[in-house]
Amino acid sequence: MSMFKGERGRGEDVDLVIQQLEEAVEILQLPETAFYLLSTPEREVRTRITIKMDNGEPAVFPAYRILWNSACGPGKGGLRFHPEETVGMIRKLAALMSWKTAVVGLPLGGAKGGVKCDVKRLSVSEKERICRQYVRRFYDVLGPRLDVPAPDVYVDSRMIGWMLDEYELRNGGKEPGVITGKPLELGGSSARFEATARGGVYVLRAAARRLGVELEGKTVAIQGYGNAGGHFHRLAEEILGLKIVAVSDSSGAIYNSHGLSASEIGQCKAETGSVIHWREADQMANWELLELDVDVLVPAALGDVITMENAESIKASMVLELANGPTTREADKILAERNITVLPDMLSSAGGVTVSYFEQVQNASNYYWPKKKVLTLLDQKMCEGLEKLMKMADKHGVDNRMAAYLVAVQKVYQAMVLRGWL
Ligand code: GLU
Repeated sequence: MSMFKGERGRGEDVDLVIQQLEEAVEILQLPETAFYLLSTPEREVRTRITIKMDNGEPAVFPAYRILWNSACGPGKGGLRFHPEETVGMIRKLAALMSWKTAVVGLPLGGAKGGVKCDVKRLSVSEKERICRQYVRRFYDVLGPRLDVPAPDVYVDSRMIGWMLDEYELRNGGKEPGVITGKPLELGGSSARFEATARGGVYVLRAAARRLGVELEGKTVAIQGYGNAGGHFHRLAEEILGLKIVAVSDSSGAIYNSHGLSASEIGQCKAETGSVIHWREADQMANWELLELDVDVLVPAALGDVITMENAESIKASMVLELANGPTTREADKILAERNITVLPDMLSSAGGVTVSYFEQVQNASNYYWPKKKVLTLLDQKMCEGLEKLMKMADKHGVDNRMAAYLVAVQKVYQAMVLRGWL
């Protein structure tokens, strides 16, 4: 692997996924050029967005879109609007998207984008100006057959609606498949808003069945209460009968051994802005939630929260990763040694992109499916993904994360070979 090693920046977030990729490439005994193609982006566009704030002052925001690999199809992946955004983080997540789409067998590649900005401090009209300008800046690299964005951290369906509108104004015709996660009225898919959480529920259910574990009444701690964590709370109660005893958001965590109801916590979050204002619970720090004695731990916020420092203290017997990249490689190894079942992000958080794919299929045919059909097909895709992963884990005697890498890397590698790239 030495020949190309010097070409990447050092100490970046992307390094972690590259290390894991390197292990996968070695296990599969792929050639060095394959590693090079898999470990570097196909295209990176970096620019900045300049808008006038409501008070008339100019403001500048760095903006990115990175297409990691398109061997299996057009780039696909969300847009993050985060105050700490870095190009290294977008690279890491663009790579992860390439493996995620491959694990669930979608005819798509992987990409990611974002704007470094603090959405919580922007007015609605400032947000709209940033969204519209993002599309104008990246117009040439976006398209249903090129690269298709979607929501991610701090990007919601309303923002997606503005971006669709801006693209179509410039394009001159309707092109709903250029972006997913749209509001239903603009060509969105039913169940897309809760798809990440639902995908996680289906993976957990299928994994528990395989392990012979009865989920009803089991305890859960959910870290993060955004789109993934909030909907997971409700669906895990409704579909699996799980007892959610702890939840958190960026302000802190709460715990009640008798359980927390999704409707009450959802209402509290909507009305007060945070779950921590729920009175019938004890408050705790976010790190304490991760170490609670529960059956299932669900990291559903940002990356790198289960690390070498706390992996020994995790007490859950299953970790369902709804966030992108919540566990570091060192932590992964510790969890595996301690026989904790990790259901890795590449599969567990793939419900969102899977329904995004269904959304594009519906857009292309201009025919919209009933929710039941979307849910049945989503369940099927998630179960197929889990089966492939488990088979790979058995075949190579590796942990679940490495098995997911092997499934993904093998698929993308084959697509590259068939295209004549290798
Ligand atoms: N942002 C989501 C993810 O990380 C969804 C991506 C998509 O729908 O394209 O998987």
